[in-house]
Amino acid sequence: MKTYLVTGAAGFIGANYLKYILAKHDDIRVVVLDALTYAGNLGTIASDIDNERCFFVKGDICDRDLADQLFAEYKFDYIVNFAAESHVDRSIENPQLFLQTNILGTQNLLDAARRAWVTGKDENGYPTWRKDVRYHQVSTDEVYGSLGAEGFFTETTPLCPHSPYSASKTSADMIVMAYRDTYKMPVTITRCSNNYGPYHFPEKLIPLIIKNILEGKKLPVYGDGKNVRDWLYVEDHCKAIDLVLRKGREGEVYNVGGHNEKENIQIVKLTIATIHRMMTETPEYRKILKKKELNDKGEISIDWINESLITFVKDRLGHDQRYAIDPTKITNELGWYPETKFETGIVKTIQWYLENQAWVENVTSGDYQKYYERMYKNR
Ligand code: NAD
Repeated sequence: MKTYLVTGAAGFIGANYLKYILAKHDDIRVVVLDALTYAGNLGTIASDIDNERCFFVKGDICDRDLADQLFAEYKFDYIVNFAAESHVDRSIENPQLFLQTNILGTQNLLDAARRAWVTGKDENGYPTWRKDVRYHQVSTDEVYGSLGAEGFFTETTPLCPHSPYSASKTSADMIVMAYRDTYKMPVTITRCSNNYGPYHFPEKLIPLIIKNILEGKKLPVYGDGKNVRDWLYVEDHCKAIDLVLRKGREGEVYNVGGHNEKENIQIVKLTIATIHRMMTETPEYRKILKKKELNDKGEISIDWINESLITFVKDRLGHDQRYAIDPTKITNELGWYPETKFETGIVKTIQWYLENQAWVENVTSGDYQKYYERMYKNR
């Protein structure tokens, strides 16, 4: 029986990971620690929390006393740290919060683990550690900076972040590696490309575009839309983390990528075309549309769901041009590869949003509206 501390599991990837590991492993119990910021939604994981295998604690990863209490009570074997401020645009508005959560929060968890897991000292003065424990840091390809038209990020690419978000994630990675080198702490890091899939907060590109289409709103695209991202279906990412945590080599970094590079504008066009097609094939979905014009057959029209909805807005400051991951190491060592083709994943994702509008409304009421207006009003 392994006991996990999974932080940030009320957010997008963490929630998918929680559902994945609970379904995959019978012999585990999981404590979720999440501060429930605007990006965390307890409703997403409510059905998973049974207080037998899965427990929820509302709290901040920066809280030292809470971390110690949780270690004392649950005797964790694994920590998987998803908790973070994760949105680049918000980091440009308020960098300090990102440094606080992403760097100091990581350091606080590492220290709590160190206090709980160190058993003594070896002859050279290095700490000795409880057997079979592991701290796993969920990181991002953004730590490597930006690529030109050619090449891929490997694990040895120099770290060169550009946004306050990526700088904070880079610092966290470096702190994790410092604990490996200084204390010989058993750690691993995964650096992943852009994820997409269910439960993605609609401030990020794909869910934002889906939401705006369903509401008949314009689709804001930064700059000329030519920035390239590598997209990975979230469940494939969760599988990679599960493998690295259990079978990855201690002290190692693994890049996780989708081999699926697309320009932002391609993503937006594909999303428009897919929603149009799905609403043609299943007219029932048209009832979700907020804009309900009828065509001459008396059906809800979808003629307006086309590329004329796209509006180019002022570019993000310091917008990285291209990210692309080389996942050879995780493929060769652990047999992982991105199983879900983008064409399949995007249909699954859109279908999930079409069928879970109550979730979208719940997470985007209140503060989200104010944020959206502030971000896009003057662009
Ligand atoms: P998210 O913003 O959807 O969720 C973050 C979660 O962390 C939320 O539930 C939030 O309430 C919680 N949280 C924030 N601050 C906290 C604090 N101080 N204490 C406790 N909980 C706190 O993020 P996500 O997209 O699921 O990303 C998860 C992780 O994966 C992050 O570390 C992110 O950097 C990394 N990552 C994300 C992507 C992506 O495409 N989304 C890609 C690569 C890496």
